[in-house]
Amino acid sequence: MKLSRSPLSPWLFALLAIAACSTEPAPPPNIVFIFADDHASAAISAYGSTVNRTPNIDRLAADGMVFENCLVTNSLCGPSRATVLTGKYSHMNGLIDNESGTQFDGSQQTFPKLLQGAGYETAVIGKWHLGSAPTGFDYFKVLIGQGPYYNPPIGSVTDTTKIEGYTTDILTDLTLDWLKGRKDPAKPFLLMYQHKAPHRNWQPGPDHLDSFEDQEFELPPTFYDDYSNRSSAAAQANMRVDNNLNANDLKITPPRNLTPEQLARWNAAYEPRNEALKAAGLTGKELDQWKYNRYMRDYLRAVQSVDDNVGRVLDYLDESGLAENTIVVYSSDQGWYLGEHGWFDKRWMYEQSLHTPLIVRWPGTVPEGVRNADIVSNLDFAPTFLELAGVPVPDDMQGQSLLTTLRDGHDPNMRADFYYQYYEFPASHCVRRHYGVRTDRYKLIYFYGIDEWELFDLQTDPDELNSVYGTPEMADIEAGLKVRLTELREQYQVPEDTRPIPSEPCTSDAEGWDGYDAE
Ligand code: CA
Repeated sequence: MKLSRSPLSPWLFALLAIAACSTEPAPPPNIVFIFADDHASAAISAYGSTVNRTPNIDRLAADGMVFENCLVTNSLCGPSRATVLTGKYSHMNGLIDNESGTQFDGSQQTFPKLLQGAGYETAVIGKWHLGSAPTGFDYFKVLIGQGPYYNPPIGSVTDTTKIEGYTTDILTDLTLDWLKGRKDPAKPFLLMYQHKAPHRNWQPGPDHLDSFEDQEFELPPTFYDDYSNRSSAAAQANMRVDNNLNANDLKITPPRNLTPEQLARWNAAYEPRNEALKAAGLTGKELDQWKYNRYMRDYLRAVQSVDDNVGRVLDYLDESGLAENTIVVYSSDQGWYLGEHGWFDKRWMYEQSLHTPLIVRWPGTVPEGVRNADIVSNLDFAPTFLELAGVPVPDDMQGQSLLTTLRDGHDPNMRADFYYQYYEFPASHCVRRHYGVRTDRYKLIYFYGIDEWELFDLQTDPDELNSVYGTPEMADIEAGLKVRLTELREQYQVPEDTRPIPSEPCTSDAEGWDGYDAE
């Protein structure tokens, strides 16, 4: 029999249909979403860290894809989490900031709910920080609010129980318990395993109280940034390592909620160091250098416990055989400053806080050790998880699925530019409200409360020290970016932010610790 060459041949169609029916459909993949809090890419060796090694997070990078330009919609804890869950910008999911009284509306559509409806078993363990209780999960054990580094109260559907120990370790114990005791092992699962660390104030765990003590950290080249050649916004902020870290941040005083045993171990590590500081009588730039080193060591200690515990989870996935059909994602709710511009914290549309790590391991689909430089976002996580699970992506989600990128290494339809907006002002750290657009080369920022603009050429000025807004050479680029900014605001249906701004904001910001002599 001769088959027609037409693709519509009924014979060929029938043969293909029989062939398709004879193979079992691949089971939907499990998803393990590992989410850190405030983890800078610059503190992950897969991203080229010069200050630490993260061998377990690197395992994911070696076996999967590292995204070099994953940008967040709004660089703050709660809003980022809401964007991850909904695939929508802050103004659409309703959580624009972390201000007291603001809660995530858990009745709305989220990707865990949609996966749950499609037959996934869903769980969230760790930091939640959305005010309202988790919805769309068969199981949850979450920190209350920010949660402490030691001895955290953990909330579940039925109760809140305080567990003694180091939070990063405890959250992993709970995660492994859940993985081992799933109700229906035949079901695919979504597990959101979300750390508190390395959020401020960077308290090390008992395993790492002495780590990095012999390592010296040089101040970044932009540490003494004077914020000239930009808008007035950067100079107004209160998030400098040298001026705004307090005695708790710097571990001049020990954490208040330790058990006697934990406190003894803590003091054995910190008291001799603090005595040495007192005896040295450092001031000025020498004290700045000390503060930076204390800050970096504690931050990296908190990161190191996250990495150790990621290793425990990856080991279990390997040992149990789950790894083969499980997608593992590592990300953070936003980026972070390790002293660039003199800062700690996040919030800004500048590079260190706009970027967040994103590493995806998907055995059999994502090739090993590949990197992608396209502009992707935490807006894309929800549509990606839905599409890879075979669940239709709702039209009102604003992100783009990364499925093509993960399969082919690149998606020709991926966005060419990205919209960002930060709302929380006046508030801690005094960072002005702003929105803007970033392309692969340029970044236009509008501080709308003070009507000031910045424009950076990231190719010639990667540290963003010199705004070229309003210069004749940049007139065409600037005009083009303003058009795109307007178009993006229309596309995403961004309303005007008309909330009033007090005439004297940021008057209550805390002064930092200023050395033993000043006390
Ligand atoms: Ca955060």
